[in-house]
Amino acid sequence: MAALIDSHCHLDFAAFDEDRAEMLMRAHQVGVTHFVVPGVTQKQWPRLRELQKRYQNWHIAFGLHPYFIEQHEENHLEMLSQQLHEGGAVAVGEIGLDATCPDISKQKELLKAQLKLAAEFELPVILHHRKTLDEMLKMVKQAGIEHGVVHAFSGSQQQAEHWIEQGFKLGVGGVITYDRANKTRTTISKVPLQSLLLETDSPDMPMCGKQGERNEPAYITRALDALYELREEPRDQVRAALWQNTLQLFKIG
Ligand SMILES: [Zn+2]
Repeated sequence: MAALIDSHCHLDFAAFDEDRAEMLMRAHQVGVTHFVVPGVTQKQWPRLRELQKRYQNWHIAFGLHPYFIEQHEENHLEMLSQQLHEGGAVAVGEIGLDATCPDISKQKELLKAQLKLAAEFELPVILHHRKTLDEMLKMVKQAGIEHGVVHAFSGSQQQAEHWIEQGFKLGVGGVITYDRANKTRTTISKVPLQSLLLETDSPDMPMCGKQGERNEPAYITRALDALYELREEPRDQVRAALWQNTLQLFKIG
C-alpha cells in the first residue's frame, strides 16, 4: 500500500508547539510519512527552515499569504527572492487572493509579483482562493504559470476543467467530508485522478464531525475515505495516484 503525503499542512504553526513530535507520530501511525508545509509570512520562514531540519520529510515552500496581508511589507518580496535563491523550496506558496480579506488591490499586486518569482525560479505555486477562482486563473495565465495546485479546491466542474487545462492540480481535503459540499464532491468525483492531491490544511479546515477542533495530518484518512467513496477506481489505485501526483508536482524524491 502506497504511503500518504499531506500535500498542504501548516505544521510550523504555534498550534503544534506543545505536541509536534506526538502529532507527527500519530500521522506516521496511519501511513502519512511526508508533508508539504507552505510558508505564510516573512517572519515565519526562518522557523520553517529550522523545523524542517529537525523533522523528517518536511517539504517546504515560501510565500506571502493573503490572510496576513497587513503584515506583508514591500521588502518582503525581495526577501522571498533571497529565500528561493537559497534553495530547498518545493514551491512558491501559500499565495493567492481572498475576497473576504482586506485590500484586494494590494493582494493582487503581491500575487502578481510572487507568480513572477515562481516563473523565474521555475517552481510550482500553491494557491489559496476564496471567491476568486476565475480572477486568479486570469493572473496565472498572464504570468505563464503552468504548474501548481489550487489548494482546498471548491468550485464547479467547469472551473476545475479550466484549471486542469492550465496544468494545475486540485487539493482535496476536509471539504469533501461534508455532505453539504455537493458541488465540490460532484466535481471531485469526475475530474481525472491525475489531477488530485490529498491535503488537510492543518491546523485549519477540520473534517466533518471535528468542527471546532484542531485539525492534524493523521485525520487525512477521513478525507481519503470520502474520496474512495466518490471515485470509481479501486482504492489502491486512488491511493497510489495521490502519492505519485504530489511527488511529481513538487519534484520530491
Ligand atoms: Zn494553507
